[in-house]
Amino acid sequence: MSSVKEPSANPLTLKERMKVPHQHMPEQPAELRVMNFTEVNLGYSTELARQEALRCLECAKATCVDHCPVGVKVKEFVQLIVAGDFLGAAAKIREDNVLPAITGRVCPQEDHCEGACLLHKKVESLGIGYLERFVADYEQRMGAPMAPDAPATGKKVAIVGSGPAGLSAAGDLVQKGHKVHVFEALHEIGGVLVYGIPEFRLPKQVIREQIDKMREMGVEFETNVVVGKTVTIDELFEEEGYDAMFIATGAGLPVFLNVPGEHLNGVYSANEFLTRINLMHAYEFPRYDEPMVDLRGRHVAVIGGGNTALDAIRSARRLGAEKAYVIYRRSETEMPARIEEVKHAKQEGIEFRMLTNPVEFLDDGRGWLKGARCVRMELGEPDASGRRRPMAIEGSEFEIPLHVAIIATGTSANPLIQSTTPGLKTNKRGYIEANEESQRTSRKGVFAGGDIVTGAATVILAMGAGRRAAKSIHEYLSTGEW
Ligand code: FAD
Repeated sequence: MSSVKEPSANPLTLKERMKVPHQHMPEQPAELRVMNFTEVNLGYSTELARQEALRCLECAKATCVDHCPVGVKVKEFVQLIVAGDFLGAAAKIREDNVLPAITGRVCPQEDHCEGACLLHKKVESLGIGYLERFVADYEQRMGAPMAPDAPATGKKVAIVGSGPAGLSAAGDLVQKGHKVHVFEALHEIGGVLVYGIPEFRLPKQVIREQIDKMREMGVEFETNVVVGKTVTIDELFEEEGYDAMFIATGAGLPVFLNVPGEHLNGVYSANEFLTRINLMHAYEFPRYDEPMVDLRGRHVAVIGGGNTALDAIRSARRLGAEKAYVIYRRSETEMPARIEEVKHAKQEGIEFRMLTNPVEFLDDGRGWLKGARCVRMELGEPDASGRRRPMAIEGSEFEIPLHVAIIATGTSANPLIQSTTPGLKTNKRGYIEANEESQRTSRKGVFAGGDIVTGAATVILAMGAGRRAAKSIHEYLSTGEW
């Protein structure tokens, strides 16, 4: 085990720290929360946060930091919590992460910082995500002011897309003194954070507060601008005088199963279903009447095993679904969803039908869904993704009665910008080609990052790309070298 560096605010010895129990996140009881869209996790109190922070071993080689795609200085911010300096802790996180209240809620920490935490070898990892959320929420309550760090450079940067990649780049660039303008196609800022992830995991108010902070820092936002249609990348350079551009348009095009019956009424893409809930306010039913997602007494299934699938089915439950199933062709071990979401879904009475795959959606004779014909699957050797390949078991077909099916088996790139920007190279799957380190594309002055480059990934990976892009854009604007 690594040694503690002096001086430390933590009065406990390493052995004593190992004995402090992991502080669990207080949450709404499952039987109550299935009837509302308010947040499941209630946040640490000051006392819980300090207790949890005391568990940090302050490792000389902080593997948690190495495993954070944006390099949050975990050890330092946790020690500031131990010392009771919560605003200092928030400022420390903000050196590397402009959206701490968001990543503290939705980042898959088990794959990054917490997965690398040395405590994990003996006991539960440090609750780094919970602590991050605590200081971000504390900072918000205290109304700590934001200010850009550097004098104005006179350079203008356009960011296309306001998801985590775009926001992260915008935050870093404005702090370097550049004028930053974010163009967003939808009427709300935030990308998937706002139109995909539901209120009970990430309240819209939290996103708005983080965006307001960015406005205070000087970032300008413009909604309802579809770049590639309303204005092209070339026009932004030539007519509006931008010096550089960051494309962060995500991977929001739904992918379907291509099985018979997918056209039936009652079959949705997860993208449409969640957008109706989040942006068309179905989560505020009956104050807002969004009739297509009134699911009282209905039998609903989501097809897929990622965060999107769980967000969709847990939303369906809250909208009144009597039966709510996750249908997934692999086993629970291979499910890409965050562990906490799987646990919460089970508590909420979601039924998991693992090793199951729909082969047909069934018509009730009037064009509406009445069920799914499924096959049972078994797992073979690992495929290109490293996960064991699912294979159908012959003669295992069976039917599940359903009123609604939601397809959450993936998304791909919207081709609009690629097709309207000459010289911008894409790969064979339609994603923009960008250098992994610099995020530079084949077009001078144009950078790209997030899901539009990698395919659907995670919030923190998109933010990491945004940070790398901001660094290279700053270098490009400072030196003029491409
Ligand atoms: P996006 O968030 O997709 O943002 C792209 C933005 O660009 C959108 O607002 C879009 O409207 C805009 N845009 C697109 N085209 C144009 C155009 N032509 N002009 C202007 N604007 C345009 N990840 C996690 O880490 N944890 C989770 O818990 C999690 N849950 C998820 C739940 C759901 C339902 C979904 C769909 C994804 C989830 N993810 C999660 C994945 C994560 O949200 C994405 O990887 C991340 O948002 C990608 O960020 P991005 O900035 O690249 O793109």
